[in-house]
Amino acid sequence: MEKSLFTDTDIIFQTLSYATRLLASEKKLDQLIDNALDILSDFGHSNKVEFIILETKNKHEAILAGLLENGLISRLNKKINIKDSTLEEIIIRKRPEIVTSDSQTKIYLPLIGSGNNAIGILVLHVRDQKKLGSIELRSLIILTTLIAVSLEYAQSARLAMFDSLTGLYIRRQMDIRLQEELHRIKRYGGTLALCMIDIDHFKKVNDTYGHLFGDKVLIELAQLIRNTIRANLDVPCRFGGEEFMIILPNSDASNAYEMTDRLRQLCEKHPFTYKDQTIHVTFSAGVAATKSPDISQKEFISRVDAMLYKAKEEGRNKVCVRKEE
Ligand code: GH3
Ligand code: MG
Ligand code: MG
Repeated sequence: MEKSLFTDTDIIFQTLSYATRLLASEKKLDQLIDNALDILSDFGHSNKVEFIILETKNKHEAILAGLLENGLISRLNKKINIKDSTLEEIIIRKRPEIVTSDSQTKIYLPLIGSGNNAIGILVLHVRDQKKLGSIELRSLIILTTLIAVSLEYAQSARLAMFDSLTGLYIRRQMDIRLQEELHRIKRYGGTLALCMIDIDHFKKVNDTYGHLFGDKVLIELAQLIRNTIRANLDVPCRFGGEEFMIILPNSDASNAYEMTDRLRQLCEKHPFTYKDQTIHVTFSAGVAATKSPDISQKEFISRVDAMLYKAKEEGRNKVCVRKEE
């Protein structure tokens, strides 16, 4: 048999090098979790790996963000209580630990951020501990540091892209995406629609029920928007205080109008509830679509804005649309 040029150790380090590249360049949190789970299960000879992210607001709570079990990855995003648990002890100690009980071995790998604080923890359920050599264990420690750094990076990228109250894209992100879509129709043709939503008499909601109720309305309307738009295609943004914008690629004016009016009806019927009180809220919206390769972003937004103004003028709780040209 021909002898391989590489030793087992070389192969481990090659895989580690590949894993470094895969993890370090990943800005998307979901993808980072998937990649990390995959790599960890290989290195740790584990049939089950848990990726847990700590909550910043409540130190006794964590999110089981992802789980790899029998080769299948699920992104659970499930809240877990870690008060007085082994997880909490290890997070406080901030050191990796191997715990064996009832013939089961678990490797706990705390994710330590740049401020030397724990930001998460990885739990590997090991099938066969004998397979785990010391190089693999050391590699797991390097991987853990790398995952912690990548997690911090992905989390800060997320903070810079999404509005912290509603979870929708922030306005700067919308500017970038709208510019991209306008370039797309210039190059490839097609139709692009834009929708602007403004809650009716929102000042009165705040004045009557308080700012926190107002915030709850914004959060729930954002959720209604997410539930109504085409997932992974339309781009929902918080444009300003109580104004939202939706970019609808490959959509003409009548499709965009139909979607926005469906959303308007859902909002009108939706019970917005906060601390045992329920209110109803409506919005007005402007919709416009374009096929023109030369329209500027500013002009497109001002057309939508004019339609929104018209909807307000015509009595609110209404969608006004300008046909594509
Ligand atoms: P119209 O029907 O003409 O749109 O009336 P409006 O009261 O909705 O419009 P106006 O522009 O007068 O008021 C907008 C209000 O939105 C005022 C501001 O306090 C509130 N607002 C903006 N951002 C937030 C926020 O993040 N949270 C809360 N609770 N209120 C906000
Ligand atoms: Mg407004
Ligand atoms: Mg308003």
